[in-house]
Amino acid sequence: MLKLQDKCGVFGVYLDPTSSDGAGNAATLSYYGLCSLQHRGQEAAGIAVVDSTAHSPITVKKGLGLVSEVFNKDALSSMHGNIAIAHTRYATAGARTIENAQPILNKFKKGTIAICHNGQLVNYAPLQSMLEETGATFTSNSDTEVILKMIAREYTLNSSNIEQSVMAAIKAISGSYALCIATEDTLIGARDPFGIRPLVLGKVNGGFVLASESCALDAVGASVVRDISPGEIVIINQNGVRSSSIISKQQPSLKQTCIFEYVYFARPDSVIDNISVQKARQAMGAVLARENPINADIVMGVPDSGLGAALGYSQQSGVPYSMGIIKNKYIGRTFIAPTQTERENLVYVKLNAVQSELQGKSIIVIDDSIVRGTTSKRLVQLLRRAGAKEVHFLVSSPPVKFPCHLGIDTPTKGELISSNHAIAEICQEIGSDSLAFITLGGMIEALQSCGTNIIDGFCKGCFSGTYPV
Ligand code: AMP
Repeated sequence: MLKLQDKCGVFGVYLDPTSSDGAGNAATLSYYGLCSLQHRGQEAAGIAVVDSTAHSPITVKKGLGLVSEVFNKDALSSMHGNIAIAHTRYATAGARTIENAQPILNKFKKGTIAICHNGQLVNYAPLQSMLEETGATFTSNSDTEVILKMIAREYTLNSSNIEQSVMAAIKAISGSYALCIATEDTLIGARDPFGIRPLVLGKVNGGFVLASESCALDAVGASVVRDISPGEIVIINQNGVRSSSIISKQQPSLKQTCIFEYVYFARPDSVIDNISVQKARQAMGAVLARENPINADIVMGVPDSGLGAALGYSQQSGVPYSMGIIKNKYIGRTFIAPTQTERENLVYVKLNAVQSELQGKSIIVIDDSIVRGTTSKRLVQLLRRAGAKEVHFLVSSPPVKFPCHLGIDTPTKGELISSNHAIAEICQEIGSDSLAFITLGGMIEALQSCGTNIIDGFCKGCFSGTYPV
């Protein structure tokens, strides 16, 4: 079974305790932030909160399910504090346990500390063994707890300064991470040296917020200050915002942001590292049109992440854009349903064709990616069933051939259809009249067209098999 992990959403709030702008409301702000990051994880949600003036420990509320299922008005009203961190967790088919939900809280000699993590460590096993040999115990099987225990260990043994402890722990870990950490008086954010997962800093009245995506800043009325740089650690407390880095200023940029954020993960209204996700998707569609001109009656996108590329294709080619596919807004991820039959049947519940738009027409349909091939196969069937004369399937990312160890965990190549089949075979399998993918070069070109001085600083491991870590 394809096992997906750690495409999560993180959020953090620091409000000045003396501010009149709702200093006790960090948890409520986090709730709204999390609602906007729901697309990054629907398995579990949690918020940790503390009042820095009360000298009391951090408290956490978390549970399995959507943000709105885990929190209600009563729960939020009892969560008073000016510092909060929050998390939405992405589903791992086999591990829907509350132990793996975040934030993870640790009580140790010098107080309480809580952590939220989006990403995946590659060296957590040796670190966990080392910690266990020196007496640490673990309550989850999450790599995030390893980071927390590393920080607590450093803080207890070597440092009186939390900033130095976080720095030391971060120097020891390797992999992808966007972190929000809360102590009893400070909010800390950190992004791995390659900036694989996104993290952005925003300003609200009376304080600052951190979020995986800028759409969550918009939701809480925050203005974007800047993206956290790869390797940067930001410390936010009564002394304001301070920043340090584990990368020296002389070192060239290591930036390798996950390209799949622009393809699929992120919301189109987010801007990541100065690239608008919507603009990127439209540009990918325009490149697809140049690389694959097709004489068709209409072009349509697979909602939601294929819509931008279809619009871009239409604008570049002049082929009329159509809303030919409708997505059921109330259905969750089909991708993570446990059996293939269930996944296939769920596509019909999730997506449907608008017969009046398609009948007797030759159509181009664009999806952001083909992973197993489940969605595309069912989609072609339902488009034909609705009367499409020809179905030309285009994909706005190159073939996904390799598992990802830095955000989506695909343990075997066996289930990735492009890893085992040539494009012509996939076309036959999904039953379309033609099939084409954007080239990797075309995709980079599209991203670079979205701003000035955009370097090719993207992790493309799922397409190329080459990873930054
Ligand atoms: P598949 O049906 O296995 O070929 O998966 C491709 C479909 O799933 C596309 O419609 C994508 O929008 C979507 N998708 C791609 N990557 C992911 C992911 N990591 N999690 C959930 N859905 C995804």
